[in-house]
Amino acid sequence: MQLGKYSFGIGDRFARQGEAQLKAFVEARKGGLDITPVWNKSNREHMTIGSEPHETRHEADNAVKRLDWSGAWFVDADHISMDNVERFIESSDFFTIDVADYIGKKASGRELEDFVDSNIKFTGKFSIPGINGSFNPTREMLYLIGGKFLFAIKEAAKIYRHIESRKGTNKFITEISMDEVSDSQTPLELFFILSAISAETIPAQTIAPKFSGRFNKGVDYRGDTGKFSTEFEQDLMVVDLAIKEFGLPENLKLSVHSGSDKFSIYPAIGSLIRKYDKGIHIKTAGTTWLEEVTGLALAGGAALNLAAAIYSAALERFNELCGPYATVIDIDKGELPSSGEVSGWDGDRFAAALRHEPNHPDYNPHMRQLIHVAYKIAAEYGHTYTDMLEEHKEIISRQVTENIYNRHFSRIFNL
Ligand SMILES: [Zn+2]
Repeated sequence: MQLGKYSFGIGDRFARQGEAQLKAFVEARKGGLDITPVWNKSNREHMTIGSEPHETRHEADNAVKRLDWSGAWFVDADHISMDNVERFIESSDFFTIDVADYIGKKASGRELEDFVDSNIKFTGKFSIPGINGSFNPTREMLYLIGGKFLFAIKEAAKIYRHIESRKGTNKFITEISMDEVSDSQTPLELFFILSAISAETIPAQTIAPKFSGRFNKGVDYRGDTGKFSTEFEQDLMVVDLAIKEFGLPENLKLSVHSGSDKFSIYPAIGSLIRKYDKGIHIKTAGTTWLEEVTGLALAGGAALNLAAAIYSAALERFNELCGPYATVIDIDKGELPSSGEVSGWDGDRFAAALRHEPNHPDYNPHMRQLIHVAYKIAAEYGHTYTDMLEEHKEIISRQVTENIYNRHFSRIFNL
């Protein structure tokens, strides 16, 4: 089972927009570009909403049937660990094994020795084709890198073997993620991480490192875009060499998590993957839900009132909602409009604040991030919320499709 060259992860909190999401991929295909849709949902999202993984599978299957999609598609058990993988086994065929929590824990002395021994040939002057200059990894550096990452990779191997024992070999795609940590991984670290992944014979097809800079949910990249570009290019070269050196799957590629809305680095990502003819997986951050709120606002009347009520509740429950996402959002409370102000807005004004059009004078990234984490409130509305989605399906679908196609595909893939 192989993941195509270009793939795009689409989260959908309430599992209603599968068809609207897939429409963007159909459009891309008409334009000559094959992008594989991957419906991803994490355990945290399922817990917050009270949904089950089979609902995501059902949504994906239905969308594929209704639009007659003949390409590949996958359902991704996102950021899973041994504790929660079980509920995803049947409905998923893509598993993002999250090892962030294990980084820094120590492997045994024997295991660490083996890791250093098997990589000792890279010490001294070592260059990576495509990267200017050379590295000088030392034995001590290998101990440090092994000390930081080896235990985590061994943990990933345990989870991988468990999934394999249940689903069978080559019956699912494996991604390894380590993005939800505070320190980014250097290209050299990535090389030795891939060495360990290969030693554990995990057939990873995508790897999600932590890049430098902030990847906040639903808003643009914050950081040095030039530095990101250099790092991303080096990571591409590292993956290339690791495939040859360690015999990892030929289609192994980088995965960019919280990759939606990172408009300022899309030109670099796009031009580098084209320059080197490389694949990419972009995992979006459940921003389809923001398009639902935008669509409700535009629909006006009771739908707009519901959107305003969700925002007002989110303001009141700020700490509760933002707490779990503290490392992936940056909200300046002073920049948030009051409930009173928002309840006086018409649909266009509300949509303009929320929609990610960086140059629009009314765009408010603080409000956007707060609503991003406020899906719990919509879940509490239950049928009131989902019935409203149904009632305004047309206008909402349009927002969802346009967001994926116009603001993402066209920018990343130059469509
Ligand atoms: Zn992630």
